Amino acid sequence: MTDTLQPKEYLLPVVPIRDGIVFPNTEMILTFGRQRSVASIEAAQNTGKKVLFVMQRNQNINDPVPSDLHTIGVMGEVVQMLKNEGEINALVRGLVKVEIGTYEAVEPFFVARGYERLDTVEDDDESKAFFNHLTTQLRLAVKLGKTIDFLTFMNIMSGTIPLTLSYQLASILDIKPSERQELLEMNSVKERLVKETFYLSREVKVLELEQSIASKTQAKFDKNIKEQVLRERIKTIEKELGDNDENKEIKELADKIKKAGMPEDVRKKAEKELSRLAQMSQYNPETSYVRTYLDTLIELPWSIATPNNVQIKDAEKILNQDHYGLVKIKERILEYLAVLKLKNIEAKVEEKEKKEKKGHKSSPTILCFVGPPGVGKTSIGKSIARSIGRKFVKMSLGGIRDEAEIRGHRRTYVGALPGRIIQGIKQAGTKNPVFMLDEIDKVGADFRGDPSSALLEALDPEQNYAFSDHYLDVPFDLSDVFFITTCNILDTIPPALRDRLEIIHFPGYTEVEKFHIGKDYLLEKQQSAHGIPEKVVAFTDTAIMEIIRRYTREAGVRNLEREIAGLYRKVARKIADNGKSKKAFHITPTNLHTYLGPQKFTSMLAEKKDEVGMSTGMAWTEAGGEILFIEVALMPGKGALTLTGQLGDVMKESATAAMSYVRSKYKTFGLPEKFFQKVDVHVHVPEGAVPKDGPSAGAAIATAIVSAFTKIPVKRAMAMTGEITLRGRVLEIGGVKEKVIAAHRAGIRMVILPKSNKKDLEDIPKDVTKDLKFHFVEHMDEVLKIALKARS
Ligand code: ADP
Repeated sequence: MTDTLQPKEYLLPVVPIRDGIVFPNTEMILTFGRQRSVASIEAAQNTGKKVLFVMQRNQNINDPVPSDLHTIGVMGEVVQMLKNEGEINALVRGLVKVEIGTYEAVEPFFVARGYERLDTVEDDDESKAFFNHLTTQLRLAVKLGKTIDFLTFMNIMSGTIPLTLSYQLASILDIKPSERQELLEMNSVKERLVKETFYLSREVKVLELEQSIASKTQAKFDKNIKEQVLRERIKTIEKELGDNDENKEIKELADKIKKAGMPEDVRKKAEKELSRLAQMSQYNPETSYVRTYLDTLIELPWSIATPNNVQIKDAEKILNQDHYGLVKIKERILEYLAVLKLKNIEAKVEEKEKKEKKGHKSSPTILCFVGPPGVGKTSIGKSIARSIGRKFVKMSLGGIRDEAEIRGHRRTYVGALPGRIIQGIKQAGTKNPVFMLDEIDKVGADFRGDPSSALLEALDPEQNYAFSDHYLDVPFDLSDVFFITTCNILDTIPPALRDRLEIIHFPGYTEVEKFHIGKDYLLEKQQSAHGIPEKVVAFTDTAIMEIIRRYTREAGVRNLEREIAGLYRKVARKIADNGKSKKAFHITPTNLHTYLGPQKFTSMLAEKKDEVGMSTGMAWTEAGGEILFIEVALMPGKGALTLTGQLGDVMKESATAAMSYVRSKYKTFGLPEKFFQKVDVHVHVPEGAVPKDGPSAGAAIATAIVSAFTKIPVKRAMAMTGEITLRGRVLEIGGVKEKVIAAHRAGIRMVILPKSNKKDLEDIPKDVTKDLKFHFVEHMDEVLKIALKARS
């Protein structure tokens, strides 16, 4: 193909190029400014527009001499040129490779004589493979972002031959000038293609790397931008909707948390929850739970306390102002307050050891008021609070069976709430209120846990400085709370809890006490409660007494207060009806029924007839002391004993014991030996709805049974109490004071008591004992002698 013997010879103007090569079969636009170059190109215009482009060995040389130029260059053609202020812009095309032999001239431009250098074109499979590989690689490179003149690319892609490709690639590869020159100087096309494969794949790798870096950077960049844009958009939407309340609320909550005076760990917890809330969507249902929780934390009086200023003298004054009588109780309370005051002083002195101190002090510091309803337990509690300047809260625990009522539900429950203790504290708004826990005897226990143990934890001064409520999830200090518990009876309080209580009994009032309470306290209280001017209503003393006797029968004064309230209501109505008339109302026993309706307790017991098989016992129930009637009926049968009237087991046993006693003593009572074989005995205690229990009705049951068999009536106005043994001994019983007061209230005038209970009389108010005749007995024989009417 090539004529190697006769290389063509050329004499051409030389144009030095700093750092580029116009390869054969390529075109490019070049700018020439150097004088010698411009002169060369201009000269070429006259000699067929051919010049010899030769690259400098060192691009920094401004005015090169022939030795500064490579010896192999390319003869090219100036296709077009544009002269502009001494510079020439020209489109040039490479034609053939030329090796310079000699320089014929240097001024005004170089002229060199050279010979055409032809390449060897190998036509083997390897060359083809390299050729194919190079075209695909080039396509890939372009895809990866290699910039190539579009026309060049199209030329290459639309079918070319290895030689042309090798030159075209050499001109577009991203390589150093020296490498380019090296490619030019190679004689073997295959060799050039191999070298170019190396350069191109290096370039592809770099491009790939660049792209992955770029895409990573881009991704990161994109994400940031995206977030920023979204945030901006949310803000705009919120602004549009006027819906920025949420942020405002979060800010407000944060502010409140700061001001709530929480201990460090509680504040941290609150802040954590707040940041959770801030991140939640407004429409997430959980937000309302978190908000309620935060509100609870904020509202709790973590560090709000009323000052501790217990002045015993003032306290005494207030207790007396608010309550009639209750002398012993007031004394106990004042003693208790005095101890409290001393402890406070001590605590102040040893402030640092305060917590440990609490841990060691094991005094049972919780007051427990025991007594029937309406005897002033609550109102004494209020007075205590008033007298020591603390807030008062009351929580009823009646009917609680679930531990969670005391300690709260965990927040995982829907609608979870704090327990009653924490609720009470929240209600009080201070951390040291007087906290009354009502009806602790009505706290039950079942599968949901034992509320009384939770209660114990709350009350126990050794533990309650860090009381844990499940809902709160952070401890609350209850050690400054003044707990008072109340109950009607002590029996049902678990022993562990009872141990901690300092028990104060409220025994119930006598008639005289009720009279004073009514006259001096309740009348005035109800009068102002009903908005009735002073001195409009006047009660006679007998009218008050009549209300107590004929309209109420109770240990306390709750119904008395209610009746008085009812009376004032009627009066208020009459005043309203009559306009502003200043007519006074005189309440007397005779006109009482016009205000209060018919009497509720018409006849006193003492006024009732004596009967066979019926005795009067004395009981002590939750409502205070009471009298009860025991009825015994005999009927033909087989000697069975039936008991009715909601009797407890102990009471049933005592009835069986009474029956055995009567049977064993048949001779004394003048009965046939097998008197019981043909009769059934039915013992009934009326008011069946009220559960009754205890052994103290033994004497009364035995008396009624004997009366039934012997047909001798029992004195109705004679009340008796006492446990009996099988041999008829009468044993000591409890609650004498309440029982005697109740019997007196019911109009009883004679009482039989076990001898061992004689000591208890001291506690009973004089105005009761003075009306009563007491019989103290040791044996049933004596009871029967006193209680049964003498045979006429
Ligand atoms: P409890 O809590 O024992 O059931 P309360 O404290 O509710 O009884 O008393 C009922 C009413 O009787 C209240 O209005 C109370 O002020 C009044 N009261 C009870 N005892 C006295 C008393 N000794 N002096 C004055 N008022 C009394």
